[in-house]
Amino acid sequence: MQTVTFVIGATASGKTYFINMNYSGRDVDILNIYDYQQRAYQEAGFGDSISFGARFRCLMRAQDMLLEDIVERLSAGRDVVVEQTFYKAKRRITYIERIRQAAEVRIEVYVMRPGDSRWKANLESRGLKGSCEGYGREAAELEFPNPAEGFDRIYEAVDGAVTLRMDAPRPEILERAKEELAREAEGIREEDEVRRRRKELVESMSVRPFWHYCEVCGRKEFLTAGDAYDSGWDYPPRMGHFGLLGPRTCGDCGIDGTLWFKINAPGRFPVVLEGELTLEELATWRRIKAEPESLLAEETE
Ligand SMILES: [Zn+2]
Repeated sequence: MQTVTFVIGATASGKTYFINMNYSGRDVDILNIYDYQQRAYQEAGFGDSISFGARFRCLMRAQDMLLEDIVERLSAGRDVVVEQTFYKAKRRITYIERIRQAAEVRIEVYVMRPGDSRWKANLESRGLKGSCEGYGREAAELEFPNPAEGFDRIYEAVDGAVTLRMDAPRPEILERAKEELAREAEGIREEDEVRRRRKELVESMSVRPFWHYCEVCGRKEFLTAGDAYDSGWDYPPRMGHFGLLGPRTCGDCGIDGTLWFKINAPGRFPVVLEGELTLEELATWRRIKAEPESLLAEETE
């Protein structure tokens, strides 16, 4: 029977070393979640900066890509060894269900649990010294795999000594994991919905009339972007961007009376400090920050 072997554990817990010692040179396919995460980040076009939500999506995308690769290789008759972090039962359960649907295989897991001194040495050799506490917290997050998740064999590797550890099955783990997964999926759907609505609103601003406020002379007009542009207004979406500081002026006024001009004055560090603004400037600043929603209904003072 074919086998899928997961090797899991925290950062620097010795997963790669364990795989090299036990599987290199053998007739198995070795996959690593790290490679898939890098690929997901590259696909998404992220450099060093990435928001928490986007990061979560990339990690989920990496999980999916790796899972499909495992299934594909099993279908091709290969044995597969997978390096994974896999702290949570819910992630493992997702994998096991999908794999069992696709093939009749033995699924085993090795959990890397180095002792304190071994682990500190690993961290040091990777230049991660000083982060022991952070990584310790990470390791503590690992939910030890339970047979109820669907593993045929669960091994614990402590400093190179491997023992079979099949705890008493706890079926309630499955139920909890399913609930967590459902909540997670719901959260992602809601986030998508918010993004979709936002995109629709921004797109609609190119065609619908909305309030244009001249921050210099105080004039206000309810216009489409096209009409405003034709009569000389400096206003998003044709000029500048909603929500970003820039001139908001009618056709009669110049930029030198704008908040943008004041903030970007030569020799001044270009950052808005609300305490230094006049009441009029503050109103402009708050309106800009709340765009485009702030332009839909007429402001009444
Ligand atoms: Zn004006």
